Amino acid sequence: MQVTVNIATPTQRTYTVRGNTLREAHGRLPRGCWGRYAGNFTWDYRGRNGMVSHLILNAAPVITLPRWHGRGRASREEQREWDRMLRALTAHEDAHHEVLVNALEDQRHFFSDEPDTAVRQLRQDLGSYGSELQQYQDDFDRTSRHGQRAGVVLNFPD
Ligand SMILES: [Zn+2]
Repeated sequence: MQVTVNIATPTQRTYTVRGNTLREAHGRLPRGCWGRYAGNFTWDYRGRNGMVSHLILNAAPVITLPRWHGRGRASREEQREWDRMLRALTAHEDAHHEVLVNALEDQRHFFSDEPDTAVRQLRQDLGSYGSELQQYQDDFDRTSRHGQRAGVVLNFPD
């Protein structure tokens, strides 16, 4: 069957953490993940008589990163350390996006080789694919420790 993959450029969002020092800001970051990646996968199809001839896989990803309100009141070193962490965190979220892109590419290959399929069958195949995608992201977070292994940590200069 024909397969189209539509992956939007990730939308960037921020949440605010307040603090006059790096320690204060650190204390207000959530436990676990400091950034968030949501793939927002959906699928659609074209076809007739209950048969799918064209499968459409969509993702509208959203990346959420912290913004430090009060950064300007902290020392140079603290600001620099925050900025370093934020770059590492951004790279980590970009890697989540790569996981999604690769997974959907695999799906494209798989379904391109499939003949036209009944809608009911496709619902079975793709019904839990959203949670399968989440599993891939959870696995990546486990092996990368939410990016801690690649610099998503804060070291205090003082
Ligand atoms: Zn992560």
